Amino acid sequence: MRAQPQASHFVNGDWMEDEAGAVIEVYSPATGRICAELHEATPAVIDAALASAQAAQRDWARLRPVERGRILRRAADLIREYGDSLAALETLDTGKPIQETRVADWPSGADALEYFAGLAPTVTGETVPLGQDFAYTLREPLGVCVGLGAWNYPSQIACWKAAPALAMGNALVFKPSEVTPLGALQLAEILIEAGLPPGLFNVVQGRGQVGAALVQDPRVAKVSLTGSVPTGRKVYAMAAEGVRHVTMELGGKSPLIVFDDADLESAVGAAMLGNFYSAGQVCSNGTRVFVQSGIKEAFLARLAERSAVIVLGDPMDPDTQMGPLVSAAQHAKVTGYIETAKAEGARLVCGGDAPDLEGWFVAPTVFADVTDDMTIAQEEVFGPVMAVLDFETEDEAVTRANATQFGLAAGVFTRDITRAHRVIAALEAGTCWINAYNLTPVEAPFGGSKLSGVGRENGRAAIEHYSQIKTVYVGMGPVDSPY
Ligand code: NAD
Repeated sequence: MRAQPQASHFVNGDWMEDEAGAVIEVYSPATGRICAELHEATPAVIDAALASAQAAQRDWARLRPVERGRILRRAADLIREYGDSLAALETLDTGKPIQETRVADWPSGADALEYFAGLAPTVTGETVPLGQDFAYTLREPLGVCVGLGAWNYPSQIACWKAAPALAMGNALVFKPSEVTPLGALQLAEILIEAGLPPGLFNVVQGRGQVGAALVQDPRVAKVSLTGSVPTGRKVYAMAAEGVRHVTMELGGKSPLIVFDDADLESAVGAAMLGNFYSAGQVCSNGTRVFVQSGIKEAFLARLAERSAVIVLGDPMDPDTQMGPLVSAAQHAKVTGYIETAKAEGARLVCGGDAPDLEGWFVAPTVFADVTDDMTIAQEEVFGPVMAVLDFETEDEAVTRANATQFGLAAGVFTRDITRAHRVIAALEAGTCWINAYNLTPVEAPFGGSKLSGVGRENGRAAIEHYSQIKTVYVGMGPVDSPY
């Protein structure tokens, strides 16, 4: 399957090409072969995208929210209508199994468009009584926003940023990851088909320097990044120069704590979901699985049993449960972490090798007897590698779970409801689950604390990150001036 789009960029409602931009080779992770070639955005493309966004945004902001919402709702319907072909392209671009991309990636994007379409008309200000005078507030759009995407959920990320941005009357210039640049272009076409005026959602391609040029442009009011902590630091600093609003959705090393009284099958299933879905390339994964000593052996035995039968293979095959990693670089990084874990004394329970398949595959891997000082307990691996750590007491588990600079997510498995809430209250993480893991419905805010991020996507909370308050004081009597 060749996935060459009509052109590299989508600007002002149409495809745009500038072959002067450096070439981006797009690989299909399942074969390791090139499936498309794009060009990075040149300064002329970046300027056209920002100029058209700025021009289109003013009229868009003047529309009634219900009218903006109607267009987004139509886009959600179109995504569902084109579901199979969108999923196939996402699978080609990312290597994720089609059984995932059909139910998780674009469907979650459609949910975001539908949710914010419905939410937009409900956003109102407040009136503030001040004796005979009063004040009122208006929630206004920010203007031109920039979205920078990671490669692991390319289309979902584009939708999660576009939906609240557009619903609140902003324009968005989106730069997908150079590793997975195809899905965002599909979203641009779909939004136009749904009736979005040209210029409000532009897609420009490029590596970090294209992102940096966008972030630093004076026309930009807000930057929303989904990416790693090192990139987050750079983008945050650049945005600070212009005192721009930011949302930072960054990396994690999240704890999943399994107490002795947990439902074994559910806890094992959640640990697998939270480490092996999307071949482990999920920011909120529970990659430090703390298992209480009483349940440890049963947990590891069941985990090994269930992990051994995960079906790896061609991600286009509906029976495939795990595809390859996204790139050769990611494959090298993950296999490097596996070797380091072995060298540092972690006990390999299953996996640990690269299966004999074309493409960048790594077998689902579980290490037991992992200690807090080991590299796989400290650094984000972003591959199908689970670290199981032992613990004895609740206090110990909480202290060790929090001993990280990350704070994206956390999970607890126990049948004791007071303990569940007590432990969650003590965990330093932005997104938590009790007896569940990695479910991120659009209705609930999602995001991290500590180095894992600033701001929230999804839920009503996202509205605040794509709008600002204007306060209007209304004087009802003569001005009382001392002069
Ligand atoms: P990355 O940080 O390498 O890149 C993210 C985006 O930033 C890309 O579009 C990239 O081109 C751009 N970029 C890189 N350098 C830049 C610069 N100097 N200026 C402006 N833009 C720049 O991340 P990645 O490797 O694509 O994705 C994996 C990371 O994303 C992981 O750390 C993962 O945890 C994180 N992630 C977080 C979330 C979340 O919601 N918290 C979701 C998905 C992924």
